[in-house]
Amino acid sequence: MKPPPFEYVAPKTLDEALAALADAGEDAKVMAGGQSLIPLLSLRLARPTVVIDLNGVADLSGISVGDGLLRIGATTRHRAVERSPEVAAAVPLIAEAMPLIGHVAIRSRGTFGGSLAHADPAAELPAVALALDAVFTMASRDRGERTVGAAEFFEGFFTTAIQPDEILTSVSFPIAGDGTGQAIEEVARRHGDYAMVGAATSLTISGGTISDARLALLNVDEKPVRAGEAEAMLVGAAPSADLFARAAEAATRDLEPSSDLHATPAYRRKVGSVCVRRALQRATERAEANA
Ligand SMILES: Cc1cc2nc3c(=O)[nH]c(=O)nc-3n(C[C@H](O)[C@H](O)[C@H](O)COP(=O)(O)OP(=O)(O)OC[C@H]3O[C@@H](n4cnc5c(N)ncnc54)[C@H](O)[C@@H]3O)c2cc1C
Repeated sequence: MKPPPFEYVAPKTLDEALAALADAGEDAKVMAGGQSLIPLLSLRLARPTVVIDLNGVADLSGISVGDGLLRIGATTRHRAVERSPEVAAAVPLIAEAMPLIGHVAIRSRGTFGGSLAHADPAAELPAVALALDAVFTMASRDRGERTVGAAEFFEGFFTTAIQPDEILTSVSFPIAGDGTGQAIEEVARRHGDYAMVGAATSLTISGGTISDARLALLNVDEKPVRAGEAEAMLVGAAPSADLFARAAEAATRDLEPSSDLHATPAYRRKVGSVCVRRALQRATERAEANA
C-alpha cells in the first residue's frame, strides 16, 4: 500500500524542526530513520498530515563522553553507535545490544533515538536504557528543554513521555566504572528478528560481593520491565550459580507476558529466566575481569 498524502517538511535546525512541529499540531510526526514510521504510513496505521524529517538537523546526531556520562544524539544511526569505540569503552551493554537490532541495512538507516521513541516492547534499546537508568532530553518550542529518567520515559505499549510538540534530542548513560560487567541475552527465531524475550544487566562487584545490580527484561510486558526484587537479592551477595537461579526465578515468576504466534506466556517466562541467568553469569565474568 501507499501512504496517504502528507506534507513533507525538511528543517535544517532544531529550532526550525520544533517550530514546524508546534505549528502542525498533534497530526504531525517526526521522522528519523523511517525504518518503523514508513511501514506504519504504508500500512496506513499512522496518518499524519505533516511529516517532519529530522535527517537534515545535524545537531541531533553525535556521540560524546564527559562528566561521567555517555551522550548519544537522537538521530545517531544505529550503525554509528555499533562501530563507536567510545561507546564500547564507556557502556559495553549498548555495544553488545546494537548488532541484535535487525540487520545491517536497517541499522545503517535506523537511529538510536528513533528506536527509543518508538518504544517497541520487543526492542533491545528500551530495556538497556531502563536497566542503566538512562536520562532522556527532550525539547519543545514553547517549553524549552526537559529531562526524564528511563523509569518515567517508557509509559506503555509504543508510548513514551515525549509530548506531541516535543523532539527527543539525546540520551545519556552512566559510564561503566571499574568492577562493572554488563551483558544482554535474548532469544529470537532467526538472526535479525525481534527477540521473543531477553534480559539486559549491569553488575558491579567489589571485594567479592555485588555492590550494584541492574536488570531489565524485554518483550515480557507492554514496556520493558525492571526486575527490582531480583536486583535487591543480588546486592550484597557473592555471585554464584545458585544466587543467579534464584534471582532469575524472582525476575520472571510474576510476569504476565502476552501470547502470540511465536511464544506462549509460559515459554516467555521460562526462556526469560534462562536469559537472566546467562546474562548475570556473563556480566559477572566481565566484572571480575574488569576489577
Ligand atoms: C525488518 C526490521 C527489523 C527490525 N528489527 C529490530 C530489532 O530486532 N530490534 C529493534 O530494536 N528494532 C528493530 N527494528 C526497528 C529499527 O530499530 C528502527 O530503526 C527503529 O525502531 C526506529 O528508528 P528510526 O530511526 O527508523 O525511527 P522512525 O521510523 O523514523 O520513527 C519511529 C517513531 O519514533 C518517532 N521518533 C523518531 N525519532 C524521534 C525523535 N528524535 N523525537 C521524537 N520522536 C521520534 C517517530 O515519530 C515515529 O513515531 C527493525 C526494523 C525493521 C524494518
